[in-house]
Amino acid sequence: MTATLDNPTATESKPTFESLNPANGDVVGVHPIASKAEVDAAVARAHDAAEWWGGLSFKEREEYLLTWRSVMTRRIAQLAQLSSLETGKPTGDAQLEIVMAIDHIAWAAKHAKKILGPQKVKSGLLMANQASTVEYKSLGVVGVIGPWNYPVFTPVGSIGYALAAGNAVVFKPSEYTPGVGQWLADTFTEVVGGRPVFQVVTGLGETGNALCTSAVNKLAFTGSGATGKKVMAACAQNLTPVIIEAGGKDSMIIDQDADITKAAEAALWGGMSNAGQTCIGTERVYVHEKVFDKFVAEIAEQAKVLKAEPGGLIGPITMPSQIGIIKSHIDDAIAKGATVVTGGSDAVGERFVQPTILTNVPENSTEITEETFGPTLAINPVKSMDEAIELTNATKYGLAGAVFAKKNGVDIARRVRSGMTSVNSVVAFAGVPSLPFGGVGDSGFGRIHGPDGLKEFTYAKAITRQKFKPLMMLTSFARDAKTDDKAAKLITMMHGGKKTLK
Ligand code: NAD
Repeated sequence: MTATLDNPTATESKPTFESLNPANGDVVGVHPIASKAEVDAAVARAHDAAEWWGGLSFKEREEYLLTWRSVMTRRIAQLAQLSSLETGKPTGDAQLEIVMAIDHIAWAAKHAKKILGPQKVKSGLLMANQASTVEYKSLGVVGVIGPWNYPVFTPVGSIGYALAAGNAVVFKPSEYTPGVGQWLADTFTEVVGGRPVFQVVTGLGETGNALCTSAVNKLAFTGSGATGKKVMAACAQNLTPVIIEAGGKDSMIIDQDADITKAAEAALWGGMSNAGQTCIGTERVYVHEKVFDKFVAEIAEQAKVLKAEPGGLIGPITMPSQIGIIKSHIDDAIAKGATVVTGGSDAVGERFVQPTILTNVPENSTEITEETFGPTLAINPVKSMDEAIELTNATKYGLAGAVFAKKNGVDIARRVRSGMTSVNSVVAFAGVPSLPFGGVGDSGFGRIHGPDGLKEFTYAKAITRQKFKPLMMLTSFARDAKTDDKAAKLITMMHGGKKTLK
Protein backbone atom coordinates (compact mmCIF):
# COMPACT_ATOMS: atom_id res chain seq x y z
CA MET A 1 0.00 0.00 0.00
CA THR A 2 1.25 3.46 -0.83
CA ALA A 3 0.60 6.25 1.62
CA THR A 4 -0.82 9.62 0.66
CA LEU A 5 0.16 12.86 2.37
CA ASP A 6 -2.98 12.56 4.50
CA ASN A 7 -2.24 8.97 5.42
CA PRO A 8 1.51 8.46 5.43
CA THR A 9 1.47 5.03 7.13
CA ALA A 10 2.03 2.29 4.63
CA THR A 11 1.74 -1.35 5.65
CA GLU A 12 4.75 -2.60 3.73
CA SER A 13 8.18 -2.53 5.35
CA LYS A 14 9.36 0.46 3.30
CA PRO A 15 6.84 3.27 3.61
CA THR A 16 6.39 5.59 0.66
CA PHE A 17 4.35 8.66 -0.29
CA GLU A 18 3.09 10.07 -3.55
CA SER A 19 3.76 13.47 -5.02
CA LEU A 20 0.69 14.69 -6.89
CA ASN A 21 0.05 17.17 -9.68
CA PRO A 22 -1.98 19.89 -7.93
CA ALA A 23 -3.72 20.83 -11.19
CA ASN A 24 -5.51 17.47 -11.49
CA GLY A 25 -4.42 15.13 -8.69
CA ASP A 26 -2.41 12.81 -10.99
CA VAL A 27 0.45 10.91 -9.36
CA VAL A 28 3.78 12.40 -10.44
CA GLY A 29 6.02 10.08 -8.43
CA VAL A 30 6.32 7.72 -5.47
CA HIS A 31 9.09 8.34 -2.95
CA PRO A 32 10.38 6.63 0.18
CA ILE A 33 9.73 8.06 3.63
CA ALA A 34 13.20 8.05 5.16
CA SER A 35 13.29 6.83 8.77
CA LYS A 36 15.43 8.34 11.52
CA ALA A 37 17.95 5.52 11.04
CA GLU A 38 18.09 6.19 7.28
CA VAL A 39 18.58 9.91 7.83
CA ASP A 40 21.36 9.25 10.35
CA ALA A 41 23.00 6.85 7.88
CA ALA A 42 22.85 9.49 5.11
CA VAL A 43 24.43 12.06 7.43
CA ALA A 44 27.18 9.57 8.39
CA ARG A 45 27.92 8.97 4.67
CA ALA A 46 27.93 12.74 4.17
CA HIS A 47 30.58 13.16 6.90
CA ASP A 48 32.84 10.73 5.02
CA ALA A 49 32.17 12.52 1.74
CA ALA A 50 32.85 15.88 3.42
CA GLU A 51 36.41 14.72 4.16
CA TRP A 52 37.01 14.43 0.43
CA TRP A 53 34.98 17.43 -0.72
CA GLY A 54 36.23 19.74 2.05
CA GLY A 55 39.80 18.63 1.31
CA LEU A 56 39.65 19.78 -2.31
CA SER A 57 40.99 23.18 -3.28
CA PHE A 58 38.54 26.01 -4.00
CA LYS A 59 39.50 25.68 -7.67
CA GLU A 60 38.69 21.96 -7.75
CA ARG A 61 35.30 22.50 -6.12
CA GLU A 62 34.66 25.35 -8.55
CA GLU A 63 35.22 22.98 -11.47
CA TYR A 64 32.71 20.44 -10.14
CA LEU A 65 30.12 23.10 -9.33
CA LEU A 66 30.48 24.76 -12.73
CA THR A 67 30.05 21.38 -14.41
CA TRP A 68 26.87 20.82 -12.37
CA ARG A 69 25.69 24.27 -13.43
CA SER A 70 26.22 23.35 -17.09
CA VAL A 71 24.44 20.00 -16.72
CA MET A 72 21.48 21.78 -15.14
CA THR A 73 21.50 24.35 -17.91
CA ARG A 74 21.51 21.76 -20.67
CA ARG A 75 18.70 19.80 -18.97
CA ILE A 76 16.70 22.87 -17.98
CA ALA A 77 13.59 21.80 -19.92
CA GLN A 78 13.53 18.45 -18.13
CA LEU A 79 13.79 20.05 -14.68
CA ALA A 80 11.25 22.77 -15.51
CA GLN A 81 8.79 20.13 -16.68
CA LEU A 82 9.19 18.13 -13.45
CA SER A 83 8.86 21.24 -11.29
CA SER A 84 5.75 22.28 -13.22
CA LEU A 85 4.18 18.84 -12.67
CA GLU A 86 4.87 18.85 -8.93
CA THR A 87 4.01 22.50 -8.17
CA GLY A 88 1.45 23.22 -10.89
CA LYS A 89 3.29 26.39 -11.94
CA PRO A 90 3.58 27.20 -15.68
CA THR A 91 6.79 25.75 -17.17
CA GLY A 92 7.97 29.27 -18.06
CA ASP A 93 7.80 30.24 -14.38
CA ALA A 94 9.52 26.98 -13.42
CA GLN A 95 12.29 27.77 -15.89
CA LEU A 96 12.70 31.30 -14.52
CA GLU A 97 13.55 30.10 -11.02
CA ILE A 98 16.00 27.54 -12.44
CA VAL A 99 17.68 30.26 -14.50
CA MET A 100 18.25 32.29 -11.33
CA ALA A 101 19.43 29.25 -9.36
CA ILE A 102 21.99 28.41 -12.05
CA ASP A 103 23.42 31.92 -11.88
CA HIS A 104 23.72 31.62 -8.09
CA ILE A 105 25.60 28.31 -8.32
CA ALA A 106 28.09 29.85 -10.76
CA TRP A 107 28.58 32.93 -8.56
CA ALA A 108 29.10 30.91 -5.37
CA ALA A 109 31.58 28.60 -7.13
CA LYS A 110 33.60 31.48 -8.60
CA HIS A 111 33.69 33.68 -5.47
CA ALA A 112 34.21 31.14 -2.67
CA LYS A 113 38.02 31.40 -2.68
CA LYS A 114 38.15 35.19 -2.59
CA ILE A 115 35.56 35.46 0.18
CA LEU A 116 36.45 32.44 2.31
CA GLY A 117 40.17 31.93 1.69
CA PRO A 118 42.86 33.27 4.07
CA GLN A 119 42.99 37.06 4.25
CA LYS A 120 45.54 39.26 6.00
CA VAL A 121 44.15 41.72 8.52
CA LYS A 122 45.87 44.57 10.41
CA SER A 123 47.11 43.57 13.87
CA GLY A 124 46.96 47.03 15.51
CA LEU A 125 49.61 48.87 17.53
CA LEU A 126 49.34 46.72 20.68
CA MET A 127 49.97 43.55 18.68
CA ALA A 128 52.23 45.04 16.02
CA ASN A 129 54.60 42.04 16.27
CA GLN A 130 51.88 39.66 15.02
CA ALA A 131 50.89 38.74 11.46
CA SER A 132 47.11 38.16 11.53
CA THR A 133 44.91 36.23 9.10
CA VAL A 134 41.30 35.16 9.02
CA GLU A 135 39.82 32.37 6.91
CA TYR A 136 36.43 30.69 6.75
CA LYS A 137 36.42 26.92 7.17
CA SER A 138 33.70 24.52 6.12
CA LEU A 139 31.46 23.20 8.89
CA GLY A 140 31.26 19.59 7.69
CA VAL A 141 27.70 18.51 6.86
CA VAL A 142 24.86 20.96 6.30
CA GLY A 143 21.24 19.80 6.53
CA VAL A 144 18.82 21.65 4.27
CA ILE A 145 15.03 21.54 4.62
CA GLY A 146 13.13 23.16 1.77
CA PRO A 147 9.64 24.33 0.80
CA TRP A 148 7.66 23.52 -2.34
CA ASN A 149 6.90 26.97 -3.75
CA TYR A 150 10.30 27.47 -5.41
CA PRO A 151 11.65 23.92 -5.22
CA VAL A 152 14.85 24.77 -7.15
CA PHE A 153 15.72 28.40 -6.43
CA THR A 154 15.04 28.31 -2.69
CA PRO A 155 17.01 25.21 -1.62
CA VAL A 156 19.81 25.93 -4.10
CA GLY A 157 20.34 29.23 -2.23
CA SER A 158 21.49 27.09 0.68
CA ILE A 159 22.78 23.98 -1.11
CA GLY A 160 24.90 25.78 -3.75
CA TYR A 161 26.51 28.10 -1.21
CA ALA A 162 27.06 25.33 1.39
CA LEU A 163 28.75 23.14 -1.26
CA ALA A 164 30.89 26.02 -2.54
CA ALA A 165 32.05 26.60 1.04
CA GLY A 166 33.27 22.98 1.18
CA ASN A 167 30.43 21.24 3.03
CA ALA A 168 28.56 18.07 2.19
CA VAL A 169 24.78 18.46 2.11
CA VAL A 170 21.81 16.30 3.10
CA PHE A 171 18.60 17.79 1.72
CA LYS A 172 15.02 17.07 2.80
CA PRO A 173 12.83 18.55 0.06
CA SER A 174 9.18 19.37 0.65
CA GLU A 175 6.85 16.38 0.45
CA TYR A 176 5.10 18.26 -2.40
CA THR A 177 8.25 18.45 -4.54
CA PRO A 178 10.40 15.41 -3.72
CA GLY A 179 11.08 14.63 -7.39
CA VAL A 180 12.73 18.00 -7.97
CA GLY A 181 14.92 17.52 -4.88
CA GLN A 182 15.95 14.06 -6.04
CA TRP A 183 16.72 15.41 -9.54
CA LEU A 184 19.07 18.04 -8.09
CA ALA A 185 20.96 15.52 -5.95
CA ASP A 186 21.12 12.92 -8.75
CA THR A 187 22.66 15.33 -11.24
CA PHE A 188 25.24 16.58 -8.73
CA THR A 189 26.10 12.97 -7.80
CA GLU A 190 26.69 12.24 -11.51
CA VAL A 191 29.12 15.15 -11.62
CA VAL A 192 31.17 13.96 -8.61
CA GLY A 193 31.39 10.34 -9.77
CA GLY A 194 28.79 8.93 -7.39
CA ARG A 195 30.25 10.31 -4.15
CA PRO A 196 27.54 11.14 -1.57
CA VAL A 197 28.49 14.81 -1.27
CA PHE A 198 24.90 15.97 -1.87
CA GLN A 199 22.20 13.48 -0.86
CA VAL A 200 18.44 13.69 -0.61
CA VAL A 201 16.24 12.14 2.06
CA THR A 202 12.54 12.26 1.18
CA GLY A 203 9.61 12.18 3.57
CA LEU A 204 7.25 14.31 5.62
CA GLY A 205 7.78 16.45 8.72
CA GLU A 206 9.12 13.53 10.73
CA THR A 207 11.96 13.01 8.27
CA GLY A 208 12.72 16.74 8.55
CA ASN A 209 12.76 16.41 12.33
CA ALA A 210 15.15 13.45 12.03
CA LEU A 211 17.52 15.65 10.02
CA CYS A 212 17.35 18.36 12.73
CA THR A 213 18.36 15.89 15.45
CA SER A 214 21.03 14.14 13.32
CA ALA A 215 24.76 14.85 13.38
CA VAL A 216 24.57 17.76 10.91
CA ASN A 217 26.78 20.73 11.74
CA LYS A 218 24.23 23.32 10.65
CA LEU A 219 20.62 23.27 9.50
CA ALA A 220 19.28 25.66 6.86
CA PHE A 221 15.49 25.74 6.97
CA THR A 222 13.16 27.46 4.52
CA GLY A 223 9.43 27.24 5.15
CA SER A 224 6.75 28.57 7.45
CA GLY A 225 7.56 30.30 10.74
CA ALA A 226 5.50 27.72 12.64
CA THR A 227 7.68 24.88 11.36
CA GLY A 228 10.77 27.05 11.81
CA LYS A 229 10.08 27.14 15.56
CA LYS A 230 9.88 23.32 15.67
CA VAL A 231 13.12 23.12 13.68
CA MET A 232 14.91 25.42 16.12
CA ALA A 233 13.62 23.48 19.12
CA ALA A 234 14.77 20.18 17.61
CA CYS A 235 18.17 21.61 16.63
CA ALA A 236 18.62 22.97 20.16
CA GLN A 237 19.01 19.40 21.42
CA ASN A 238 22.48 19.16 19.85
CA LEU A 239 23.21 22.90 19.89
CA THR A 240 23.05 22.74 16.08
CA PRO A 241 23.02 26.27 14.61
CA VAL A 242 20.14 27.12 12.29
CA ILE A 243 19.22 29.51 9.52
CA ILE A 244 15.51 30.29 9.29
CA GLU A 245 14.10 31.63 6.01
CA ALA A 246 10.41 32.00 6.78
CA GLY A 247 7.37 33.81 5.46
CA GLY A 248 6.58 37.44 4.73
CA LYS A 249 3.85 40.02 4.22
CA ASP A 250 5.76 42.25 1.84
CA SER A 251 4.41 45.58 0.74
CA MET A 252 4.88 47.69 -2.35
CA ILE A 253 4.97 51.42 -1.61
CA ILE A 254 3.94 53.74 -4.43
CA ASP A 255 4.74 57.45 -4.23
CA GLN A 256 2.90 60.18 -6.09
CA ASP A 257 5.67 60.65 -8.66
CA ALA A 258 5.89 56.93 -9.57
CA ASP A 259 5.34 55.53 -13.07
CA ILE A 260 1.83 54.20 -12.36
CA THR A 261 1.61 51.87 -15.38
CA LYS A 262 4.92 50.19 -14.47
CA ALA A 263 4.01 50.07 -10.77
CA ALA A 264 0.69 48.36 -11.58
CA GLU A 265 2.44 45.86 -13.86
CA ALA A 266 4.95 45.07 -11.10
CA ALA A 267 2.35 44.81 -8.33
CA LEU A 268 0.24 42.49 -10.45
CA TRP A 269 3.17 40.20 -11.18
CA GLY A 270 4.54 40.46 -7.63
CA GLY A 271 1.18 39.50 -6.18
CA MET A 272 -0.19 37.00 -8.68
CA SER A 273 2.72 35.15 -10.29
CA ASN A 274 3.22 31.61 -8.99
CA ALA A 275 -0.42 31.97 -7.84
CA GLY A 276 0.82 34.31 -5.11
CA GLN A 277 2.78 31.51 -3.46
CA THR A 278 5.98 33.51 -3.16
CA CYS A 279 7.71 34.29 0.13
CA ILE A 280 8.90 37.60 -1.34
CA GLY A 281 5.65 38.18 -3.23
CA THR A 282 3.72 41.43 -2.98
CA GLU A 283 0.77 41.02 -0.60
CA ARG A 284 0.04 44.64 0.41
CA VAL A 285 0.22 47.82 -1.68
CA TYR A 286 0.30 51.30 -0.12
CA VAL A 287 -0.38 54.03 -2.69
CA HIS A 288 -0.15 57.80 -2.23
CA GLU A 289 -3.73 59.08 -2.13
CA LYS A 290 -3.04 61.52 -4.98
CA VAL A 291 -2.48 58.63 -7.42
CA PHE A 292 -4.59 55.94 -5.71
CA ASP A 293 -7.60 56.01 -8.05
CA LYS A 294 -5.38 56.08 -11.13
CA PHE A 295 -3.37 53.12 -9.82
CA VAL A 296 -6.45 51.03 -8.97
CA ALA A 297 -7.99 51.71 -12.40
CA GLU A 298 -4.72 50.75 -14.10
CA ILE A 299 -4.18 47.50 -12.18
CA ALA A 300 -7.83 46.49 -12.64
CA GLU A 301 -7.43 46.97 -16.39
CA GLN A 302 -4.18 45.00 -16.52
CA ALA A 303 -5.64 42.18 -14.38
CA LYS A 304 -8.35 41.46 -16.96
CA VAL A 305 -6.06 39.13 -18.93
CA LEU A 306 -5.19 37.02 -15.89
CA LYS A 307 -6.93 33.74 -15.25
CA ALA A 308 -6.05 30.82 -13.05
CA GLU A 309 -6.65 27.67 -15.11
CA PRO A 310 -4.84 24.60 -16.42
CA GLY A 311 -2.22 25.86 -18.87
CA GLY A 312 -2.97 29.50 -17.91
CA LEU A 313 -0.77 32.32 -16.66
CA ILE A 314 -1.69 31.35 -13.10
CA GLY A 315 -1.52 27.75 -11.95
CA PRO A 316 -3.30 25.92 -9.14
CA ILE A 317 -2.68 26.27 -5.41
CA THR A 318 0.02 23.69 -4.76
CA MET A 319 -0.91 22.80 -1.18
CA PRO A 320 -4.65 21.99 -0.85
CA SER A 321 -4.76 23.11 2.80
CA GLN A 322 -3.83 26.67 1.74
CA ILE A 323 -7.10 27.14 -0.16
CA GLY A 324 -9.10 27.51 3.07
CA ILE A 325 -6.60 30.04 4.45
CA ILE A 326 -6.78 32.18 1.28
CA LYS A 327 -10.59 32.13 1.41
CA SER A 328 -10.65 33.04 5.09
CA HIS A 329 -8.40 36.07 4.48
CA ILE A 330 -10.57 37.32 1.58
CA ASP A 331 -13.77 36.76 3.60
CA ASP A 332 -12.35 38.48 6.69
CA ALA A 333 -11.29 41.53 4.64
CA ILE A 334 -14.72 41.81 2.98
CA ALA A 335 -16.56 41.31 6.27
CA LYS A 336 -14.52 44.13 7.78
CA GLY A 337 -15.38 46.49 4.92
CA ALA A 338 -12.88 46.00 2.07
CA THR A 339 -13.97 46.79 -1.50
CA VAL A 340 -13.68 44.05 -4.13
CA VAL A 341 -12.11 45.25 -7.38
CA THR A 342 -11.78 41.82 -8.94
CA GLY A 343 -12.22 38.24 -7.69
CA GLY A 344 -13.51 37.94 -4.15
CA SER A 345 -14.92 35.08 -2.13
CA ASP A 346 -16.25 33.25 -5.22
CA ALA A 347 -12.79 33.38 -6.75
CA VAL A 348 -11.69 30.48 -4.55
CA GLY A 349 -12.26 27.17 -6.33
CA GLU A 350 -11.32 23.60 -5.48
CA ARG A 351 -7.80 23.74 -6.95
CA PHE A 352 -7.50 27.20 -8.53
CA VAL A 353 -7.97 30.68 -7.04
CA GLN A 354 -8.80 33.54 -9.41
CA PRO A 355 -6.83 36.79 -8.98
CA THR A 356 -8.40 38.86 -6.24
CA ILE A 357 -7.79 42.57 -5.76
CA LEU A 358 -9.20 44.31 -2.71
CA THR A 359 -8.99 47.98 -1.76
CA ASN A 360 -9.44 49.89 1.50
CA VAL A 361 -8.67 46.73 3.42
CA PRO A 362 -8.83 47.28 7.21
CA GLU A 363 -5.39 47.05 8.75
CA ASN A 364 -6.65 44.62 11.37
CA SER A 365 -7.89 42.04 8.87
CA THR A 366 -5.89 38.84 8.28
CA GLU A 367 -5.48 39.90 4.62
CA ILE A 368 -3.11 42.56 6.04
CA THR A 369 -1.68 40.87 9.13
CA GLU A 370 -1.05 37.23 8.02
CA GLU A 371 0.76 35.67 5.07
CA THR A 372 -2.00 34.81 2.55
CA PHE A 373 0.14 32.88 0.04
CA GLY A 374 -2.47 33.16 -2.68
CA PRO A 375 -3.16 35.41 -5.72
CA THR A 376 -4.55 38.33 -3.73
CA LEU A 377 -3.55 41.98 -3.35
CA ALA A 378 -4.69 44.39 -0.64
CA ILE A 379 -4.37 47.97 -1.93
CA ASN A 380 -4.76 50.87 0.49
CA PRO A 381 -4.36 54.66 0.07
CA VAL A 382 -1.93 56.59 2.29
CA LYS A 383 -1.64 60.32 2.97
CA SER A 384 2.16 60.32 2.92
CA MET A 385 5.19 58.13 2.49
CA ASP A 386 5.71 58.33 6.27
CA GLU A 387 2.35 56.64 6.70
CA ALA A 388 3.20 54.04 4.02
CA ILE A 389 6.42 53.17 5.85
CA GLU A 390 4.72 53.06 9.24
CA LEU A 391 2.02 50.67 7.96
CA THR A 392 4.57 48.58 6.07
CA ASN A 393 6.64 48.18 9.23
CA ALA A 394 3.63 47.45 11.45
CA THR A 395 3.98 43.72 10.83
CA LYS A 396 5.69 40.89 12.65
CA TYR A 397 7.35 39.92 9.35
CA GLY A 398 10.28 41.68 7.68
CA LEU A 399 11.31 39.78 4.58
CA ALA A 400 11.38 42.06 1.52
CA GLY A 401 9.36 44.61 -0.42
CA ALA A 402 9.34 47.14 -3.22
CA VAL A 403 9.11 50.90 -3.70
CA PHE A 404 7.97 52.75 -6.81
CA ALA A 405 9.06 56.40 -6.79
CA LYS A 406 11.11 58.76 -8.95
CA LYS A 407 12.72 61.03 -6.36
CA ASN A 408 12.76 59.35 -2.94
CA GLY A 409 12.79 55.63 -3.80
CA VAL A 410 16.06 54.68 -2.11
CA ASP A 411 15.35 56.83 0.97
CA ILE A 412 12.00 55.10 1.44
CA ALA A 413 13.62 51.68 0.87
CA ARG A 414 16.15 52.37 3.64
CA ARG A 415 13.36 53.06 6.15
CA VAL A 416 11.53 49.79 5.47
CA ARG A 417 12.30 47.21 8.17
CA SER A 418 13.05 44.22 5.95
CA GLY A 419 16.02 42.30 4.62
CA MET A 420 15.58 43.30 0.96
CA THR A 421 13.85 46.03 -1.03
CA SER A 422 13.81 46.70 -4.76
CA VAL A 423 13.16 50.18 -6.10
CA ASN A 424 11.12 50.52 -9.31
CA SER A 425 11.00 46.73 -9.83
CA VAL A 426 9.94 43.65 -7.87
CA VAL A 427 12.16 40.89 -6.40
CA ALA A 428 15.20 42.11 -8.40
CA PHE A 429 17.49 41.53 -5.38
CA ALA A 430 16.83 37.76 -5.58
CA GLY A 431 18.51 37.66 -8.99
CA VAL A 432 21.64 39.52 -7.88
CA PRO A 433 23.95 36.75 -6.61
CA SER A 434 26.24 39.13 -4.74
CA LEU A 435 23.40 40.40 -2.51
CA PRO A 436 22.41 38.68 0.73
CA PHE A 437 18.92 37.16 0.97
CA GLY A 438 17.00 36.84 4.24
CA GLY A 439 14.68 38.60 6.64
CA VAL A 440 14.18 39.98 10.12
CA GLY A 441 11.50 39.40 12.77
CA ASP A 442 9.16 36.49 12.04
CA SER A 443 10.66 36.22 8.56
CA GLY A 444 13.67 34.55 10.15
CA PHE A 445 17.40 35.15 10.42
CA GLY A 446 20.65 34.24 8.76
CA ARG A 447 21.48 34.95 5.14
CA ILE A 448 21.82 32.94 1.96
CA HIS A 449 23.34 34.34 -1.30
CA GLY A 450 26.31 36.66 -1.67
CA PRO A 451 29.38 36.83 0.57
CA ASP A 452 27.16 36.62 3.70
CA GLY A 453 25.54 33.49 2.28
CA LEU A 454 28.91 31.81 1.75
CA LYS A 455 30.13 32.74 5.24
CA GLU A 456 26.87 31.43 6.73
CA PHE A 457 28.05 27.89 5.98
CA THR A 458 31.49 28.28 7.57
CA TYR A 459 33.14 29.19 10.82
CA ALA A 460 35.66 31.99 11.07
CA LYS A 461 39.18 30.86 11.92
CA ALA A 462 41.57 33.51 13.27
CA ILE A 463 45.34 32.91 13.24
CA THR A 464 48.12 35.11 14.58
CA ARG A 465 51.79 34.37 13.81
CA GLN A 466 54.43 36.10 15.92
CA LYS A 467 56.84 37.89 13.55
CA PHE A 468 59.24 39.27 16.15
CA LYS A 469 59.60 39.66 19.93
CA PRO A 470 57.01 42.04 21.42
CA LEU A 471 58.14 45.46 22.60
CA MET A 472 56.28 44.75 25.83
CA MET A 473 55.82 41.15 26.96
CA LEU A 474 52.25 41.32 28.27
CA THR A 475 51.22 37.66 28.22
CA SER A 476 53.74 36.34 30.73
CA PHE A 477 54.06 36.02 34.53
CA ALA A 478 57.48 37.58 34.01
CA ARG A 479 55.69 40.89 33.33
CA ASP A 480 56.84 43.51 35.85
CA ALA A 481 55.48 46.81 37.17
CA LYS A 482 57.55 48.74 34.60
CA THR A 483 55.83 46.89 31.76
CA ASP A 484 52.39 47.52 33.29
CA ASP A 485 53.29 51.20 33.52
CA LYS A 486 54.41 51.28 29.87
CA ALA A 487 51.18 49.51 28.81
CA ALA A 488 49.07 52.04 30.73
CA LYS A 489 50.95 54.97 29.13
CA LEU A 490 50.60 53.49 25.65
CA ILE A 491 46.86 52.86 25.97
CA THR A 492 46.33 56.38 27.39
CA MET A 493 48.24 57.82 24.44
CA MET A 494 46.15 55.77 22.03
CA HIS A 495 42.67 56.12 23.56
CA GLY A 496 42.68 58.31 26.68
CA GLY A 497 42.76 61.88 25.56
CA LYS A 498 40.41 62.03 22.62
CA LYS A 499 37.01 62.11 24.32
CA THR A 500 36.32 63.03 27.93
CA LEU A 501 33.15 63.26 30.00
CA LYS A 502 31.79 66.78 30.02
P1 NAD B 1 6.41 24.21 5.78
O1 NAD B 1 6.93 24.90 6.98
O2 NAD B 1 5.09 23.55 5.86
O3 NAD B 1 7.43 23.07 5.31
C1 NAD B 1 8.78 23.34 4.99
C2 NAD B 1 9.58 22.08 5.13
O4 NAD B 1 9.65 21.70 6.50
C3 NAD B 1 9.02 20.86 4.39
O5 NAD B 1 10.08 20.18 3.78
C4 NAD B 1 8.42 20.04 5.50
O6 NAD B 1 8.38 18.66 5.23
C5 NAD B 1 9.39 20.32 6.63
N1 NAD B 1 8.85 20.05 7.96
C6 NAD B 1 7.56 20.00 8.36
N2 NAD B 1 7.49 19.74 9.69
C7 NAD B 1 8.76 19.63 10.13
C8 NAD B 1 9.36 19.38 11.40
N3 NAD B 1 8.62 19.22 12.49
N4 NAD B 1 10.70 19.36 11.49
C9 NAD B 1 11.46 19.58 10.40
N5 NAD B 1 10.97 19.79 9.17
C10 NAD B 1 9.63 19.83 9.03
O7 NAD B 1 6.47 25.30 4.62
P2 NAD B 1 5.99 25.15 3.10
O8 NAD B 1 4.50 25.16 3.10
O9 NAD B 1 6.69 24.03 2.43
O10 NAD B 1 6.56 26.49 2.45
C11 NAD B 1 5.84 27.69 2.45
C12 NAD B 1 6.43 28.66 3.43
O11 NAD B 1 7.80 28.85 3.16
C13 NAD B 1 5.81 30.03 3.34
O12 NAD B 1 5.61 30.57 4.63
C14 NAD B 1 6.86 30.84 2.59
O13 NAD B 1 6.79 32.22 2.82
C15 NAD B 1 8.11 30.23 3.11
N6 NAD B 1 9.24 30.47 2.21
C16 NAD B 1 10.24 31.31 2.63
C17 NAD B 1 11.31 31.58 1.80
C18 NAD B 1 12.41 32.48 2.25
O14 NAD B 1 13.47 32.45 1.65
N7 NAD B 1 12.25 33.30 3.28
C19 NAD B 1 11.38 30.98 0.54
C20 NAD B 1 10.35 30.14 0.14
C21 NAD B 1 9.29 29.90 1.00
